[in-house]
Amino acid sequence: NEFEDYYLKRELLMGIFEAGFEKPSPIQEESIPIALTGRDILARAKNGTGKTAAFIIPMLERINTANTHVQSLILVPTRELALQTSQVCKTLGKHMQINVMVTTGGTTLKDDIMRLSETVHVLVGTPGRVLDLADKGVVNLKTAEMFIMDEADKLLSQEFTPVIEKLLAHFQAKRQILLYSATFPLMVKEFKDKFMVKPYEINL
Ligand code: AMP
Repeated sequence: NEFEDYYLKRELLMGIFEAGFEKPSPIQEESIPIALTGRDILARAKNGTGKTAAFIIPMLERINTANTHVQSLILVPTRELALQTSQVCKTLGKHMQINVMVTTGGTTLKDDIMRLSETVHVLVGTPGRVLDLADKGVVNLKTAEMFIMDEADKLLSQEFTPVIEKLLAHFQAKRQILLYSATFPLMVKEFKDKFMVKPYEINL
């Protein structure tokens, strides 16, 4: 396959090629066409396989930058990964006028409130802080179509799972869930059965 096969927006294709990607990696070949249809995905994928771009490319394609509301939430377990992930969004979306915001613990809520008074299309964050913002009504997730979890095996721990369930309650019923995980422990299987709709399963 080629990136041209997915009929992506020209601006997105430019970002992909400028990042030096020539062809989709196997996880991208499986993820991109399915994610573009709006279907849920449950993928087993290790780091280094291109999994980040596997969810960011279809996410960027599905975002309408003319709309000013948050359209996608990417949940990750650490601040470090949140920063890396937001960087991939900005690199691939370089020609798209995409606004990405990182929110994790350790910064003031006041700064986040200021940032969210301006346009944010993609929110990348850790569960506790994002739930805090949603509960306080600082961010409205009812209009967000995509809920993405990276390193889901780390996210779905005893500590985070109740937080993530509360976060999902802020979304509309027909949100798309894309879940990437290195391993599939019981917590991930339970999450799948409880919240995902006929997910397309990827096992590479
Ligand atoms: P990841 O598995 O998401 O951590 O990505 C691993 C590395 O592969 C990153 O440095 C990416 O920039 C790079 N990468 C992702 N997709 C491609 C691709 N299709 N072609 C070349 N490099 C890629």
